[in-house]
Amino acid sequence: MTEQAKTEKGRVAVLGCGVMGAPMARNLLRAGFEVRVWNRTREKAEALAGHGAFVASTPAEAASGTDVTLTMLADGAAVEAAMTGPAGALTTLPSDAVWVQMSTVGLSATQRLARLADEHVGFVDAPVSGSSEPAERGELLVLASGGPTLRPQVQPLFDAIGRHTLWLDRPGDGSRLKLVLNNWLAVLTEGMAETISLTTALGLDPDLLLKTIAATPLGSAYALAKGRAMVNNDFTAGFPLHHANKDARLALEAAGLERIELPLTEALLKRWAQAISKGHGNDDVAAAINAAH
Ligand code: NAP
Repeated sequence: MTEQAKTEKGRVAVLGCGVMGAPMARNLLRAGFEVRVWNRTREKAEALAGHGAFVASTPAEAASGTDVTLTMLADGAAVEAAMTGPAGALTTLPSDAVWVQMSTVGLSATQRLARLADEHVGFVDAPVSGSSEPAERGELLVLASGGPTLRPQVQPLFDAIGRHTLWLDRPGDGSRLKLVLNNWLAVLTEGMAETISLTTALGLDPDLLLKTIAATPLGSAYALAKGRAMVNNDFTAGFPLHHANKDARLALEAAGLERIELPLTEALLKRWAQAISKGHGNDDVAAAINAAH
């Protein structure tokens, strides 16, 4: 794909074309943005050329002349690697551009990345809630925090990828809320896995458990969906176990900095390590049920 003229909506770079970044880039293209993509493994970025994206060879090339550059990479180290160094996006991002950091990287990395941006460009911390399917449908929940003056510049982009943006005033609160939500997700998932194991051990049909809680206030839609996946042995990744494991670790680290304990999170991480060592890291988080099997 050759370089294109800037569209009315503006020029956006998407760094990271994985399970989440690729559908986000497609939704931005659909909404009329000029999109420049970069991915460490180039093939994943090239798959977006047919949708109208310009495929860059380096993060610096992708970020060149953009109004907004978005990072959707695995973790803090990957984001830092893409933004810094001679081929890093910060070398070419215009000073009036905004860097929107949407990966889940935790609190220390968010602070570190915000400091990196400080000297160069505007920074919005904006992790998302919702997995691959909401990402495909443009229905993510965007948890945004950062300078109020940057909001008008990034809101049209959030509208293209999300169903709602929750703006929080204190810098870093997007990442704080994301950690809290994913700690809850971890506890619900592990609770369901262990309760299904108990149900089976007591000679009851796990379907009975799911039907019973579905008919009561105990039945969270998320826990029920994970329970059904566990019962059906269907671990097609929506949200992979290795990312959920990373986020539970980040939650534990954040709790440690505040000198509070998260005994449930600490315990489930040991079990999830077992499931991951049995090869379930890329399966959906529902594969946590395989820890003891
Ligand atoms: P993914 O499919 O595993 O993609 C990860 C991306 O990071 C790929 O582009 C990968 O490049 C890149 N990457 C990894 N290490 C790198 C490094 N050292 N240097 C440069 N690039 C590197 O992950 P995802 O599901 O899209 O998730 C992305 C982020 O969003 C994560 O922080 C995740 O926790 C968060 N998130 C995920 C979900 C979900 O349901 N999947 C939901 C909400 C938030 P390669 O292709 O070369 O490996």
